[in-house]
Amino acid sequence: MLIKPLAFDSFGVRSMATYVETEDVKITIDPGVSLAPRRFGLPTHPLELARQKECAKAVQSHAEASDILIVTHYHYDHHDLGGLIPTSIYTGKKVFVKHPRENINYSQRAERAPRFLQAIRGLPKTLDYADGVHKVFGRTSLRFSKAVAHGTDTQLGYVVEVSIGVGGEKLVYTSDVEGPSLPEQARFILDEKPSFLIVDGPLTYMLGYRYSQASLETSMENLAKIVEKTPVKTILLEHHFMRDLNYRKLASPLCEAAERRGVQVLTAAEFLGRKVEMLEASRLELYKSGGSRTTSASKTSNLGERKNLASRP
Ligand SMILES: [Zn+2]
Ligand SMILES: [Zn+2]
Repeated sequence: MLIKPLAFDSFGVRSMATYVETEDVKITIDPGVSLAPRRFGLPTHPLELARQKECAKAVQSHAEASDILIVTHYHYDHHDLGGLIPTSIYTGKKVFVKHPRENINYSQRAERAPRFLQAIRGLPKTLDYADGVHKVFGRTSLRFSKAVAHGTDTQLGYVVEVSIGVGGEKLVYTSDVEGPSLPEQARFILDEKPSFLIVDGPLTYMLGYRYSQASLETSMENLAKIVEKTPVKTILLEHHFMRDLNYRKLASPLCEAAERRGVQVLTAAEFLGRKVEMLEASRLELYKSGGSRTTSASKTSNLGERKNLASRP
């Protein structure tokens, strides 16, 4: 199984777009790329806009080459209405989307889901609601969780987690769980027993007001449990978590558990051997210096703290 992160927060954009290829199918998960409109009271920096364009191109070309496209919920970092990525990517594809009417919050049910479904109307070969569904393509299994909360409660709605397995390999992609801090979010991962996990980590850049210390601790405990109880070998800890420059320190409880089990904990950028570029979190500095703040961590694992012995591009 080939797992290729296409656009992630560690590349300098808001996204979890991922391409997966097995002997049976080619899949792109969440083909969208967005940016924070404002951070630290500042608008998006030109570097971020340029990076968003680059990432959108990569997402578009991989989506076009895919058989299956998955949209785990209706936030704009997980799909595009044709702004940077044309809706023609959905033409002739098998498309799986989060159920647009059940287990969904008001703004996604009343506005975003109908707008998206209208925009791609008539394009897909098939359109299925993903929640709780299991499909098999040749030897490849594609399974979706039931709807789980977007974050620590359902104010922002629900997402579906995705599991893709073939042979002895299995990827679980959590979408926006912001943790996982809730038992049902972690349950799907524990039950699926992935070898590779792409997880939306804790929302620590809002720690103390929109995200509690208790949720951070529970998330770290859940991730440590996943390290102990599943065959996971690689964890990409990403998305909301990579909007906080303190991410390494905050992840240390997980990294210690991972180290004991020989599990790699990485950002998507490190997994690909590229520089970690937290453009949004560095926005203040970008405006001050006119340059790019990056952390060079391409040859390290466990979030840059140890030598990487088993990384693969
Ligand atoms: Zn979201
Ligand atoms: Zn998101």
